[in-house]
Amino acid sequence: MKQIPLYPLRFDPIYQYRLWGGRRLADLLSAPLPDDGPIGEAWVLGDRGDHSSQVANGPLKGRTIRELMEVYQKPLMGKWASCFRRFPLLLKFLDAEEMLSVQVHPSDAHRDLIPAGDTGKTEAWVVIDAQKDSLIYAGLKSGTTELELRESIVDGTIADHLALITPEPGDGVFIPAGTVHSLGGGVVVFEVQQNSDVTFRLYDWGHVDPKSGQPRTLHVEQALACIDFAESAGGLVAPHVETSSPVERERLFDCEHFRLYRLLGQAPFPVGAANEPHVLICIAGAGRIEHNKLPYSVGKGDVWILPAEAGECVFRPSEEITLLEIEIPG
Ligand SMILES: [Zn+2]
Repeated sequence: MKQIPLYPLRFDPIYQYRLWGGRRLADLLSAPLPDDGPIGEAWVLGDRGDHSSQVANGPLKGRTIRELMEVYQKPLMGKWASCFRRFPLLLKFLDAEEMLSVQVHPSDAHRDLIPAGDTGKTEAWVVIDAQKDSLIYAGLKSGTTELELRESIVDGTIADHLALITPEPGDGVFIPAGTVHSLGGGVVVFEVQQNSDVTFRLYDWGHVDPKSGQPRTLHVEQALACIDFAESAGGLVAPHVETSSPVERERLFDCEHFRLYRLLGQAPFPVGAANEPHVLICIAGAGRIEHNKLPYSVGKGDVWILPAEAGECVFRPSEEITLLEIEIPG
């Protein structure tokens, strides 16, 4: 691949069948949903062996993030170029029509439970849409013991031990590795996570996969080994407003793997930064990114990387906009 100067890069979503999914992502993303069946996940940015996101605009259209990480590592990643072989974040929208399994992800420290080449997984959700029956479980009720949890898996009372959140649009929920979690009842979330696919299912609500006619495999022992039974840092977060002009800029998540801001406003404001990549996700409204005097139209559901080489750009809303901007912390 001959190198050209990098520019703001939009990525196409990859839709995934999930038995717990629905059809609500059609309202959020412009790419049409596959014809039928429940769609639980849209992978909107992912550098995985089996699924690598493709650039949707400009001269690099059709190139994958995998190829960019090999050929354009420095212009794309800037000061993080030598730190990551794969793009370190996996970004998704989830439509949890039914309950997801009660699950947990290992931390990076659980080397024995993580396949070679993968990492632990800390994740976080921004609630996009919720129904009156929607719910999120994040963490154990305090004092829950391993024995109580084991017994509750057998007798189907696990929900009694989980910390319940009634989600509302705009809520931020942090799920550090080791936190038991689940969600469902028609809730739609944006998910940011470490680029990992390691999930241990503790309980699956008696679901049977209509495609296989079988319940899905549980991984109770591995899950119990990962669970942090101490007081969890997970759960609903309190947004921290950093600035209110020219755009309201709230920090929702700030952990060692990602830092996520929500930007709300109508006046032009800066996005991106020199020498580091930023990711933009448009949750509501529309506008354009300006880079090198060229406009890049942004619509609802779009996901963009502002490459390190592109530096700071200007975002011009054409209407009231809600953007998420993600940085990789040092
Ligand atoms: Zn999870």
